[in-house]
Amino acid sequence: RTWQESSLPRQILDAIRQLGYEKPSPIQMQSIPISLTGRDILGIAETGSGKTCAFVIPMLIYISKQPRLTKETEAEGPYALVMAPTRELVQQIEKETRNFAQHFGFRVVSLVGGQSIEDQAYQVSKGCEIIIATPGRLNDCLEKRYLVLNQCNYIVLDEADMMIDLGFEPQVTSVLDAMPSSFLKSEDEETAERQESDRSHIYRTTILFSATMPPQVEKLSKKYLRRPCTITI
Ligand code: AMP
Repeated sequence: RTWQESSLPRQILDAIRQLGYEKPSPIQMQSIPISLTGRDILGIAETGSGKTCAFVIPMLIYISKQPRLTKETEAEGPYALVMAPTRELVQQIEKETRNFAQHFGFRVVSLVGGQSIEDQAYQVSKGCEIIIATPGRLNDCLEKRYLVLNQCNYIVLDEADMMIDLGFEPQVTSVLDAMPSSFLKSEDEETAERQESDRSHIYRTTILFSATMPPQVEKLSKKYLRRPCTITI
């Protein structure tokens, strides 16, 4: 199957054509259709597999289905958040996200250490649909109230094992615990299904990618993903 044969929105296909990608990689082929249904994903995949696109494309389609941000609503914060362990990774994700986001007119702001937090706060204050951040700087921005996540219901944790190795677990969990959509987590399958189809409550999509699955990542996924679909490449 090629990209152009898929039923993805025109803006995504335009971006892919410009990037010159011929066909979806295995992780993209598996995870994009599932993500589009709103299901949580636990992806075991390495860098180089094309996993960034695998979460960026469904994230943008999700945002495109939300009401356009206005001066009033942008004060409630972005629609989507990506957390990654290092500045370099954040910048890589930011670049890939912009390739797609520009076709929708969505604004991307990255929050990383080693750069002026005031400048970042200014960027955030102008409004954005997407934040890409390292956990440390993200927490600083939240504590200083430079950023709120009142309407952020799409979260990606990229390279979760590296975030834990670098000691970011407390920052990652503190962000997730503070989200408005600490979804109605149901152990009961039937209730969970009903909740998923009933869009009147706030439902959060959480995507977790990790190269390895140490016990701490497993713990994280048990606590924050709801009935995830596991994809291994
Ligand atoms: P990642 O695993 O997300 O770090 O992606 C590795 C590299 O593959 C990046 O430079 C992407 O731009 C590129 N890439 C992602 N998806 C595709 C695709 N379907 N076809 C060709 N290149 C791709």
